[in-house]
Amino acid sequence: MAALPRIDLRSDTVTVPDDEMRRAMAAADVGDDVLDHDPTMAALEEEVAAVLGMPAALWMPSGTMGNVAALMMHLQRGDKFLAPEHAHVLGSELGSAAWLAQGMPDVLPHDGGPGRPTPASVRAHVAPGPYFSLRTTLLCLENTHNFAGGTVTPVSEWRALTAAATESGLVVHLDGARLWNAAAALGVDPAELTTGAATVQVCLSKGLGAPVGSVLVSDAVRIAEARRIRKMLGGGVRQGGVLAAAGLVALRSRDRLDDDHAHARQLADGLRERGWAVDEPETNIVLATTEDPAATVRALAAAGVGAVTVAGRVRFVTHRGISAEDIDAALAACAALPTA
Ligand SMILES: *Cc1c(COP(=O)(O)O)cnc(C)c1O
Repeated sequence: MAALPRIDLRSDTVTVPDDEMRRAMAAADVGDDVLDHDPTMAALEEEVAAVLGMPAALWMPSGTMGNVAALMMHLQRGDKFLAPEHAHVLGSELGSAAWLAQGMPDVLPHDGGPGRPTPASVRAHVAPGPYFSLRTTLLCLENTHNFAGGTVTPVSEWRALTAAATESGLVVHLDGARLWNAAAALGVDPAELTTGAATVQVCLSKGLGAPVGSVLVSDAVRIAEARRIRKMLGGGVRQGGVLAAAGLVALRSRDRLDDDHAHARQLADGLRERGWAVDEPETNIVLATTEDPAATVRALAAAGVGAVTVAGRVRFVTHRGISAEDIDAALAACAALPTA
């Protein structure tokens, strides 16, 4: 295995559980979650549902499983679903929305801003047709939008999008892998960003730093069905409280996301001063445009800085393992590199 980069900005998934999390895992009260319910899992699910203003929740081993379980509930053969360009469900989940959930994707442009479709394009993509056309049944949104650069859909736009979907007879699923970051950036309660959605998937293993886990939230009937689907997908875990305990610590640490956002701005400012073409970050993701992103990522790796390419750009992600000093060190390493 290649050595890890000294300053790892490839993703906010690279965090390792801290002492507080490990202590909570060691002390977790556990039971068999497949047979009945693990008490710590139940506590985590209840707390996530409350924070997101939804009636019920179900722990999932990954965000991908949370998304596909939701889509399996919402879609049938012959259905079409709408999602913004470069959405995770479109290109980063092996097409499971199509082959497991049976939905045909239809891509919405980012005509509302980076990562954001407009209500008008939602309406335009649901025009009913003759009997041999697909039925458009689902709008799948992503907040923040990862590949657009961790971009935020504000509350008013979210409301307008879900209203357009509802008027058009669509159910809404929110891929909220980084919904915590959106809420922190907007300074709003995360529940403000879930109203109007039938299902929401949130990750505990991204910026919040848990080693494993996502949560799907919805109403009680859908969550009972999601529990069956999770079992079907092989996602039932036994003494899951060990993992849920880390998830609870992660969930309660979301106040610190503002630091990650400040570090992303520090990185973007520094790169710009060094002549790089960088988008202004809205959350913890910084996108840079270079002539040959793959070559830039290789040069960064040689300088001890981990980054990746997404959607033809170079992506840096800040997280709880990165300090302001790490950003200074990354910038010093970048100073030696060609800017474009
Ligand atoms: C990471 C991510 C997921 C999937 O989560 P996993 O836990 O990696 O399966 C889904 N959507 C978005 C936007 C993500 O960034």
